[in-house]
Amino acid sequence: MTVRVRFAPSPTGMFHVGGARSALQNWIYAKQQGGVFVLRIEDTDAARNKPEWTEGILSALDWIGIERGSYEGPHFQSEYAGEHRAAAARLHESGRAYYCDCTREAVQARTGSQYQGYDGFCRDRGLPAGEGRALRFRTPDEGETVVVDLIRGEPTFENKLIEDFVIARGDGSPVFLLANVVDDMTMGITHVIRAEEHLPNTPKQQLLWDALGVKPPIWAHVPVVVNEKRQKLSKRRDKVALEAFRDEGYLAAAMRNYLMLLGWAPSGDREIVEWSVIEQEFRLAEVNPSPAFFDEKKLRAFNGEYIRALGVEEFVEACRPWLTGTGTIAPPPWQPEEFDADAFAAVAPLAQTRIALLSEIVPNVDFLFLAAPLIDEAAWAKAMKEGSAELLDAALAAFEALESWDAETLKSTLEAVGAERGLKLGKAQAPVRVAVTGRTVGLPLFESLEVLGRERTLSRLRAARARLV
Ligand code: GLU
Repeated sequence: MTVRVRFAPSPTGMFHVGGARSALQNWIYAKQQGGVFVLRIEDTDAARNKPEWTEGILSALDWIGIERGSYEGPHFQSEYAGEHRAAAARLHESGRAYYCDCTREAVQARTGSQYQGYDGFCRDRGLPAGEGRALRFRTPDEGETVVVDLIRGEPTFENKLIEDFVIARGDGSPVFLLANVVDDMTMGITHVIRAEEHLPNTPKQQLLWDALGVKPPIWAHVPVVVNEKRQKLSKRRDKVALEAFRDEGYLAAAMRNYLMLLGWAPSGDREIVEWSVIEQEFRLAEVNPSPAFFDEKKLRAFNGEYIRALGVEEFVEACRPWLTGTGTIAPPPWQPEEFDADAFAAVAPLAQTRIALLSEIVPNVDFLFLAAPLIDEAAWAKAMKEGSAELLDAALAAFEALESWDAETLKSTLEAVGAERGLKLGKAQAPVRVAVTGRTVGLPLFESLEVLGRERTLSRLRAARARLV
């Protein structure tokens, strides 16, 4: 039997990191089993779906390493409406489903509770199909439904506690529970690896598989992803969109490594490992069923490590979208013609060890490309103390007299200027740094001045000095 798994997102919003995690787990499982990964877009909720969300899912999957053309699909659920309706009709014909015209109010009035669920009123009324009549599945009165779950063992549900649930609405349209099962059947899915949130649906869905006469799949419900307060990550409250992480400058390799650690770890106390190690070692059965904490701080630290591990040229290439404002990345504060690739290449190795997100490259190098530095006023106030004007005068005079403009000479020159005033290098550097870069922290100063060049450095020092009058 060929293993066939699927990832079945609904295109109703940005692509959730929890979805990305499930997609990767499906992807790896298929690869390990020599199976097939199917992408199915569950687009039947016409009111909430938008084509751009579908495109967003495809490109987010591409980014994370599940590339278009390397999987089956995308199939679109909306194209299988005929199969959904046929399955509903079969269930009705075989007596496994019946029509029901009860309103919610009527059910509540009979049961005296809004929580009780459906009371089976129409079970034996033999109503024919009709406008406004929902089709309900007749759940067994006895027995249990045992779900075989690779992560959770065998969660068991008593059938008598499962209400006669709706499978098609009053207008004949099938609901998620049925459409999802029929699609999995039609597409020959053997293993359903999906989020824990769907576990309450699973006994109902398995009953549908049984009623339609097809062997149900093996299930794996992967743990819910939570924030630091142990709340389920929600798009209204938390940053959850994979695209948002991408646009902030997380590397796909760091992201997918981190996502796979939600509830699982490679052997030997390691966390940062090659993707091939994860592909080899990951075992669905080893995934911890408890909620998995999505720790953005840790992810950030991970990303820093991944950035530092890049070759310098790869790093330069990876920074390009932030430096040129391509794709969905916000444009940098300089004009495209102000960007100087050689100057960037010269400071790139210095920046590479200092940033954790690619987007942080911009404030680190903007002084190189802007006509005048963006002065951070708080930094200015902190660095410009009594005596700073004199220090800048002395630094200017000493720098103007230099024959060679290199980091080492600049450093020893400023060191001497500071020493004459009883200042350590760090103190002497601060006003110079703010004058030239606008900030109190940044790349190593003297290398920065070397790359910025004599004329621009001197003119910025003069401008700062003029401001101190
Ligand atoms: N469209 C459903 C979702 O996004 C898929 C459920 C499933 O994987 O079975 O939650």
